[in-house]
Amino acid sequence: MATVGGTVNHTGVGGLTVGGGYGWLTPQYGLVIDILEEAELVTASGNILTCNETENTNLFWGAGHNFGPVTSFTLKVFPRPNPIWSGLLVYPPPLLTPLFDAAAKWAETASADESTIIFMACPPPAFTPRLVIIPFYNGSAEEAKK
Ligand SMILES: Cc1cc2nc3c(=O)[nH]c(=O)nc-3n(C[C@H](O)[C@H](O)[C@H](O)COP(=O)(O)OP(=O)(O)OC[C@H]3O[C@@H](n4cnc5c(N)ncnc54)[C@H](O)[C@@H]3O)c2cc1C
Repeated sequence: MATVGGTVNHTGVGGLTVGGGYGWLTPQYGLVIDILEEAELVTASGNILTCNETENTNLFWGAGHNFGPVTSFTLKVFPRPNPIWSGLLVYPPPLLTPLFDAAAKWAETASADESTIIFMACPPPAFTPRLVIIPFYNGSAEEAKK
């Protein structure tokens, strides 16, 4: 089973969730906040409130970071029976335009099982600027590479 989390493992759950939150499963299930079923929130006056679609709905739909610490999150989970495929693809800066053109074309037809992040970095061993793609596919390597 898995829920929608962030794309890295070193940020927290609280800020990610109350801030919206996107991750590798977002194309399929939406933002982290979209799959939040319930939150327990402590107000400045010390009240402990349960917020969901029927209780304290104004806080459930609109609190964000601003109305008190959320001390419990209940999130939907989804079956993830198969392995996923990912990795790193690294390209030199002159390929920026063709890379973005290809990514834009891919995005037009990408299924909910596919997503990607493209960023610029100076990775080892050379520590010079590079274009880096992290692809994600919810399925086998064979299917992903197609
Ligand atoms: C390297 C990196 C990668 C990232 N990747 C992603 C990504 O893939 N997807 C994405 O959506 N975002 C991403 N982010 C942004 C990240 O989700 C936000 O920075 C988020 O706020 C981190 O959550 P946190 O719990 O660590 O927040 P904190 O930095 O601890 O807090 C951020 C804000 O949230 C409030 N807050 C935190 N916990 C609670 C709580 N329990 N109740 C109420 N308010 C709370 C804090 O008061 C503060 O205002 C990334 C950030 C970094 C640095």
